[in-house]
Amino acid sequence: MTSSLTLSNVTKRYEKNVLAVNNFSQEFEAGSYVCLLGPSGCGKTTTLRMIAGHESVTSGDILIDGTNVVGLAPAKRGTAMMFQNYALFPHLSVIENTAFSLKMRGVGKVERLKRAEELLSMVDMSAYAQRLPEQLSGGQQQRVALARALISNPSVLLLDEPLSALDPFLRIRMRSELSKLQKELGIIFVHVTHSQDEALALADQIVLMNNAEIEQAGSPEDIFNKPQSEFVARFMGGHNVLDINGSRFALRTDHTRLIHSSEPTASTVSFVEFLGSRVEITVSSNIQADLIATLTDEEFRQAPFMAGDSVGVQWSTENLHPLN
Ligand code: ADP
Ligand code: MG
Repeated sequence: MTSSLTLSNVTKRYEKNVLAVNNFSQEFEAGSYVCLLGPSGCGKTTTLRMIAGHESVTSGDILIDGTNVVGLAPAKRGTAMMFQNYALFPHLSVIENTAFSLKMRGVGKVERLKRAEELLSMVDMSAYAQRLPEQLSGGQQQRVALARALISNPSVLLLDEPLSALDPFLRIRMRSELSKLQKELGIIFVHVTHSQDEALALADQIVLMNNAEIEQAGSPEDIFNKPQSEFVARFMGGHNVLDINGSRFALRTDHTRLIHSSEPTASTVSFVEFLGSRVEITVSSNIQADLIATLTDEEFRQAPFMAGDSVGVQWSTENLHPLN
Protein backbone atom coordinates (compact mmCIF):
# COMPACT_ATOMS: atom_id res chain seq x y z
CA MET A 1 0.00 0.00 0.00
CA THR A 2 1.34 3.42 -0.88
CA SER A 3 -0.16 6.68 0.33
CA SER A 4 0.57 10.33 -0.28
CA LEU A 5 0.64 13.03 2.39
CA THR A 6 -0.41 16.64 1.89
CA LEU A 7 -0.29 19.51 4.35
CA SER A 8 -2.34 22.50 3.31
CA ASN A 9 -2.00 25.86 5.09
CA VAL A 10 -1.33 24.13 8.40
CA THR A 11 -0.89 26.59 11.27
CA LYS A 12 -0.31 25.99 14.97
CA ARG A 13 -0.67 28.63 17.62
CA TYR A 14 0.03 27.66 21.22
CA GLU A 15 -1.23 29.63 24.19
CA LYS A 16 0.18 33.11 24.76
CA ASN A 17 0.15 33.57 21.00
CA VAL A 18 3.21 31.43 20.28
CA LEU A 19 3.15 30.85 16.52
CA ALA A 20 4.90 27.47 16.22
CA VAL A 21 3.97 26.61 12.61
CA ASN A 22 2.76 29.19 10.11
CA ASN A 23 0.92 28.28 6.93
CA PHE A 24 2.80 25.06 6.14
CA SER A 25 1.80 23.77 2.69
CA GLN A 26 3.61 20.87 1.07
CA GLU A 27 2.85 17.69 -0.85
CA PHE A 28 4.77 14.51 -0.17
CA GLU A 29 4.76 11.78 -2.77
CA ALA A 30 3.85 8.23 -1.90
CA GLY A 31 6.91 6.23 -0.92
CA SER A 32 9.21 9.18 -0.32
CA TYR A 33 11.72 9.78 2.45
CA VAL A 34 11.03 13.28 3.78
CA CYS A 35 13.31 15.20 6.14
CA LEU A 36 11.98 18.15 8.12
CA LEU A 37 15.13 20.11 8.77
CA GLY A 38 15.83 23.31 10.66
CA PRO A 39 17.30 24.88 13.80
CA SER A 40 15.95 24.18 17.25
CA GLY A 41 12.55 25.78 17.89
CA CYS A 42 11.58 26.28 14.21
CA GLY A 43 8.46 24.09 14.49
CA LYS A 44 9.58 20.63 13.28
CA THR A 45 8.29 18.57 16.20
CA THR A 46 5.01 20.49 16.27
CA THR A 47 4.49 19.74 12.56
CA LEU A 48 5.21 16.04 13.14
CA ARG A 49 2.87 15.86 16.14
CA MET A 50 0.08 17.48 14.15
CA ILE A 51 0.48 14.85 11.42
CA ALA A 52 0.39 12.12 14.07
CA GLY A 53 -2.64 13.65 15.78
CA HIS A 54 -0.82 14.14 19.10
CA GLU A 55 -1.30 17.88 18.68
CA SER A 56 -4.35 19.70 17.32
CA VAL A 57 -4.05 22.06 14.37
CA THR A 58 -5.15 25.67 14.77
CA SER A 59 -6.11 25.81 11.08
CA GLY A 60 -5.39 23.97 7.86
CA ASP A 61 -5.78 20.45 6.48
CA ILE A 62 -3.72 17.27 6.61
CA LEU A 63 -4.57 14.77 3.89
CA ILE A 64 -3.40 11.18 3.83
CA ASP A 65 -4.24 9.59 0.50
CA GLY A 66 -6.73 12.36 -0.11
CA THR A 67 -8.60 11.92 3.20
CA ASN A 68 -8.55 14.79 5.68
CA VAL A 69 -7.31 13.31 8.98
CA VAL A 70 -7.63 16.51 11.04
CA GLY A 71 -9.76 15.64 14.06
CA LEU A 72 -9.18 11.87 13.75
CA ALA A 73 -7.63 10.02 16.70
CA PRO A 74 -3.94 9.08 16.18
CA ALA A 75 -4.75 5.37 15.84
CA LYS A 76 -7.25 6.10 13.04
CA ARG A 77 -4.84 8.00 10.76
CA GLY A 78 -2.62 5.27 9.40
CA THR A 79 0.38 7.03 10.96
CA ALA A 80 2.84 5.76 13.56
CA MET A 81 5.39 7.71 15.54
CA MET A 82 8.84 6.79 16.77
CA PHE A 83 9.85 9.01 19.64
CA GLN A 84 13.21 10.65 20.26
CA ASN A 85 13.85 8.69 23.50
CA TYR A 86 12.23 5.51 22.08
CA ALA A 87 9.72 5.46 25.01
CA LEU A 88 9.95 1.68 25.50
CA PHE A 89 8.10 0.23 28.51
CA PRO A 90 10.89 -0.76 30.93
CA HIS A 91 8.95 -3.64 32.53
CA LEU A 92 7.91 -5.28 29.23
CA SER A 93 10.12 -7.61 27.20
CA VAL A 94 11.20 -6.69 23.69
CA ILE A 95 8.49 -8.83 22.10
CA GLU A 96 5.80 -7.50 24.45
CA ASN A 97 6.89 -3.94 23.71
CA THR A 98 6.67 -4.68 20.00
CA ALA A 99 3.22 -6.27 20.25
CA PHE A 100 1.85 -3.59 22.57
CA SER A 101 -0.28 -1.59 20.16
CA LEU A 102 -1.88 -4.78 18.80
CA LYS A 103 -2.79 -5.75 22.38
CA MET A 104 -4.47 -2.37 22.77
CA ARG A 105 -6.44 -3.10 19.62
CA GLY A 106 -7.67 -6.38 21.03
CA VAL A 107 -5.63 -8.65 18.74
CA GLY A 108 -5.33 -12.13 20.31
CA LYS A 109 -2.07 -13.19 21.97
CA VAL A 110 -0.98 -15.86 19.47
CA GLU A 111 -1.57 -13.60 16.51
CA ARG A 112 0.07 -10.50 17.97
CA LEU A 113 3.18 -12.39 19.11
CA LYS A 114 3.52 -13.97 15.68
CA ARG A 115 3.31 -10.54 14.05
CA ALA A 116 5.77 -9.09 16.60
CA GLU A 117 8.23 -11.87 15.73
CA GLU A 118 8.00 -10.92 12.05
CA LEU A 119 8.73 -7.28 12.85
CA LEU A 120 11.64 -8.17 15.14
CA SER A 121 13.09 -10.33 12.40
CA MET A 122 12.78 -7.42 9.97
CA VAL A 123 14.92 -5.21 12.25
CA ASP A 124 17.32 -8.07 13.08
CA MET A 125 16.26 -8.33 16.73
CA SER A 126 14.75 -11.83 16.88
CA ALA A 127 17.51 -13.05 19.19
CA TYR A 128 16.61 -10.43 21.81
CA ALA A 129 12.84 -11.02 22.01
CA GLN A 130 12.81 -11.97 25.70
CA ARG A 131 15.14 -9.23 26.97
CA LEU A 132 14.09 -6.09 28.82
CA PRO A 133 14.90 -2.68 27.26
CA GLU A 134 17.57 -1.95 29.90
CA GLN A 135 19.45 -5.04 28.70
CA LEU A 136 19.87 -3.54 25.22
CA SER A 137 22.29 -1.04 23.68
CA GLY A 138 21.00 2.27 22.33
CA GLY A 139 21.03 1.02 18.77
CA GLN A 140 19.15 -2.15 19.72
CA GLN A 141 16.54 -0.15 21.64
CA GLN A 142 16.04 1.91 18.55
CA ARG A 143 15.38 -1.15 16.40
CA VAL A 144 12.76 -2.28 18.89
CA ALA A 145 11.15 1.16 18.83
CA LEU A 146 11.05 0.92 15.03
CA ALA A 147 9.48 -2.55 15.11
CA ARG A 148 6.94 -1.31 17.63
CA ALA A 149 5.99 1.67 15.48
CA LEU A 150 5.74 -0.41 12.31
CA ILE A 151 3.57 -3.20 13.72
CA SER A 152 0.38 -1.26 13.03
CA ASN A 153 1.20 -1.22 9.27
CA PRO A 154 1.28 2.58 9.02
CA SER A 155 1.22 4.33 5.66
CA VAL A 156 3.27 7.19 7.15
CA LEU A 157 6.03 6.67 9.74
CA LEU A 158 6.95 9.76 11.76
CA LEU A 159 10.40 9.90 13.36
CA ASP A 160 11.47 12.70 15.69
CA GLU A 161 15.27 13.03 15.78
CA PRO A 162 15.57 9.23 15.69
CA LEU A 163 19.39 9.17 15.56
CA SER A 164 20.25 11.90 18.04
CA ALA A 165 20.77 9.56 21.02
CA LEU A 166 23.34 7.43 19.18
CA ASP A 167 27.11 7.85 19.01
CA PRO A 168 28.43 9.17 15.67
CA PHE A 169 29.54 5.76 14.36
CA LEU A 170 26.23 4.05 15.12
CA ARG A 171 24.33 7.08 13.83
CA ILE A 172 25.76 6.60 10.36
CA ARG A 173 25.07 2.87 10.42
CA MET A 174 21.47 3.30 11.59
CA ARG A 175 21.04 6.04 9.00
CA SER A 176 21.67 3.60 6.18
CA GLU A 177 19.41 1.01 7.83
CA LEU A 178 16.56 3.51 8.04
CA SER A 179 17.02 4.28 4.37
CA LYS A 180 17.00 0.59 3.42
CA LEU A 181 13.95 -0.10 5.55
CA GLN A 182 12.02 2.79 4.05
CA LYS A 183 12.72 1.56 0.53
CA GLU A 184 11.69 -1.98 1.45
CA LEU A 185 8.42 -0.84 3.00
CA GLY A 186 7.69 1.78 0.34
CA ILE A 187 5.83 4.01 2.82
CA ILE A 188 6.43 7.69 3.57
CA PHE A 189 8.95 8.37 6.32
CA VAL A 190 8.85 11.89 7.79
CA HIS A 191 12.11 12.28 9.70
CA VAL A 192 12.76 15.35 11.85
CA THR A 193 16.37 16.39 12.24
CA HIS A 194 18.50 19.47 12.84
CA SER A 195 21.44 17.84 11.02
CA GLN A 196 22.09 18.94 7.44
CA ASP A 197 24.26 15.88 6.80
CA GLU A 198 21.51 13.55 7.93
CA ALA A 199 18.92 15.25 5.71
CA LEU A 200 21.23 15.33 2.68
CA ALA A 201 22.10 11.66 3.12
CA LEU A 202 18.59 10.34 3.65
CA ALA A 203 15.97 12.50 2.04
CA ASP A 204 14.22 12.36 -1.32
CA GLN A 205 12.65 15.64 -0.27
CA ILE A 206 13.96 18.14 2.29
CA VAL A 207 11.73 20.76 3.90
CA LEU A 208 13.95 23.35 5.54
CA MET A 209 12.09 25.36 8.18
CA ASN A 210 12.99 28.63 9.87
CA ASN A 211 10.90 30.62 12.34
CA ALA A 212 7.76 28.49 11.98
CA GLU A 213 7.79 28.67 8.17
CA ILE A 214 9.09 26.70 5.21
CA GLU A 215 12.23 28.46 4.05
CA GLN A 216 12.85 26.15 1.08
CA ALA A 217 11.69 22.70 0.00
CA GLY A 218 13.17 20.46 -2.65
CA SER A 219 15.55 17.62 -3.39
CA PRO A 220 18.86 17.50 -1.46
CA GLU A 221 20.65 18.59 -4.67
CA ASP A 222 18.39 21.61 -5.09
CA ILE A 223 18.58 22.70 -1.47
CA PHE A 224 22.35 22.37 -1.36
CA ASN A 225 23.22 23.70 -4.83
CA LYS A 226 20.46 26.26 -5.31
CA PRO A 227 19.88 27.87 -1.93
CA GLN A 228 17.28 30.62 -2.34
CA SER A 229 18.22 32.66 0.69
CA GLU A 230 21.22 33.51 2.81
CA PHE A 231 19.63 31.49 5.63
CA VAL A 232 19.57 28.33 3.46
CA ALA A 233 23.14 28.87 2.19
CA ARG A 234 24.45 29.38 5.72
CA PHE A 235 22.33 26.65 7.37
CA MET A 236 23.27 23.99 4.80
CA GLY A 237 26.92 25.01 5.15
CA GLY A 238 29.61 24.65 2.51
CA HIS A 239 28.84 28.09 1.06
CA ASN A 240 30.22 31.60 1.16
CA VAL A 241 27.77 34.48 0.88
CA LEU A 242 29.19 37.26 -1.33
CA ASP A 243 28.09 40.85 -1.79
CA ILE A 244 28.77 41.86 -5.40
CA ASN A 245 27.56 45.25 -6.66
CA GLY A 246 24.73 45.30 -4.14
CA SER A 247 23.50 41.77 -4.92
CA ARG A 248 24.03 38.68 -2.79
CA PHE A 249 25.32 35.40 -4.12
CA ALA A 250 26.09 31.97 -2.69
CA LEU A 251 29.34 30.35 -3.76
CA ARG A 252 30.30 26.84 -2.67
CA THR A 253 33.47 26.84 -0.60
CA ASP A 254 34.90 24.12 -2.86
CA HIS A 255 34.30 26.43 -5.84
CA THR A 256 36.16 29.25 -4.08
CA ARG A 257 39.73 29.36 -5.40
CA LEU A 258 42.76 31.02 -3.86
CA ILE A 259 45.90 32.24 -5.57
CA HIS A 260 49.12 33.38 -3.95
CA SER A 261 49.68 37.07 -4.35
CA SER A 262 53.20 38.55 -4.43
CA GLU A 263 52.00 42.02 -3.44
CA PRO A 264 50.22 42.56 -0.16
CA THR A 265 46.49 42.48 -1.00
CA ALA A 266 43.41 43.28 1.00
CA SER A 267 42.90 39.53 1.65
CA THR A 268 44.92 37.45 4.09
CA VAL A 269 44.74 33.82 5.17
CA SER A 270 43.66 33.94 8.81
CA PHE A 271 43.20 30.26 9.58
CA VAL A 272 44.01 26.85 8.09
CA GLU A 273 42.11 23.83 9.31
CA PHE A 274 43.06 20.27 8.33
CA LEU A 275 39.95 18.05 8.11
CA GLY A 276 41.33 14.74 6.83
CA SER A 277 40.56 14.50 3.12
CA ARG A 278 40.09 18.27 2.80
CA VAL A 279 41.53 21.50 4.13
CA GLU A 280 39.51 24.61 4.97
CA ILE A 281 41.23 27.94 4.57
CA THR A 282 39.65 31.03 6.07
CA VAL A 283 40.39 34.31 4.32
CA SER A 284 39.79 37.66 6.01
CA SER A 285 39.61 41.02 4.31
CA ASN A 286 38.38 44.48 5.06
CA ILE A 287 35.85 44.48 2.18
CA GLN A 288 33.90 41.20 2.67
CA ALA A 289 32.94 38.98 5.58
CA ASP A 290 35.36 36.08 6.09
CA LEU A 291 35.38 33.60 3.22
CA ILE A 292 36.25 29.92 3.29
CA ALA A 293 38.01 28.01 0.52
CA THR A 294 37.85 24.23 0.72
CA LEU A 295 40.67 22.36 -0.98
CA THR A 296 41.22 18.64 -1.28
CA ASP A 297 44.29 17.52 0.67
CA GLU A 298 45.96 16.86 -2.73
CA GLU A 299 45.32 20.40 -3.93
CA PHE A 300 46.58 21.76 -0.64
CA ARG A 301 49.78 19.71 -0.81
CA GLN A 302 50.50 21.00 -4.33
CA ALA A 303 49.94 24.65 -3.33
CA PRO A 304 49.87 25.07 0.44
CA PHE A 305 48.68 28.24 2.16
CA MET A 306 49.67 29.46 5.60
CA ALA A 307 48.17 31.91 8.03
CA GLY A 308 49.40 35.40 7.07
CA ASP A 309 49.72 34.68 3.34
CA SER A 310 48.43 37.39 1.00
CA VAL A 311 45.94 35.83 -1.40
CA GLY A 312 43.56 36.64 -4.19
CA VAL A 313 40.12 35.01 -4.18
CA GLN A 314 38.70 33.73 -7.48
CA TRP A 315 35.58 32.02 -8.79
CA SER A 316 33.84 31.30 -12.08
CA THR A 317 30.69 33.33 -12.51
CA GLU A 318 28.78 30.15 -13.45
CA ASN A 319 29.32 28.97 -9.87
CA LEU A 320 27.71 32.08 -8.37
CA HIS A 321 24.18 31.41 -7.24
CA PRO A 322 21.92 34.48 -6.76
CA LEU A 323 20.14 34.79 -3.39
CA ASN A 324 16.79 36.48 -2.73
P1 ADP B 1 11.57 22.12 16.97
O1 ADP B 1 11.09 20.71 17.05
O2 ADP B 1 11.84 22.57 15.59
O3 ADP B 1 12.75 22.35 17.85
P2 ADP B 1 9.03 22.77 18.25
O4 ADP B 1 8.01 22.38 17.27
O5 ADP B 1 9.25 21.86 19.41
O6 ADP B 1 10.40 23.09 17.51
O7 ADP B 1 8.65 24.20 18.84
C1 ADP B 1 8.29 25.29 18.02
C2 ADP B 1 7.93 26.48 18.90
O8 ADP B 1 6.75 26.20 19.64
C3 ADP B 1 8.98 26.84 19.93
O9 ADP B 1 9.00 28.22 20.06
C4 ADP B 1 8.47 26.17 21.20
O10 ADP B 1 8.91 26.86 22.34
C5 ADP B 1 6.98 26.29 21.02
N1 ADP B 1 6.25 25.20 21.69
C6 ADP B 1 6.43 23.86 21.47
N2 ADP B 1 5.56 23.14 22.21
C7 ADP B 1 4.83 24.02 22.93
C8 ADP B 1 3.76 23.91 23.87
N3 ADP B 1 3.27 22.71 24.22
N4 ADP B 1 3.24 25.07 24.40
C9 ADP B 1 3.72 26.27 24.02
N5 ADP B 1 4.73 26.46 23.13
C10 ADP B 1 5.28 25.35 22.59
MG1 MG C 1 11.92 19.05 18.12
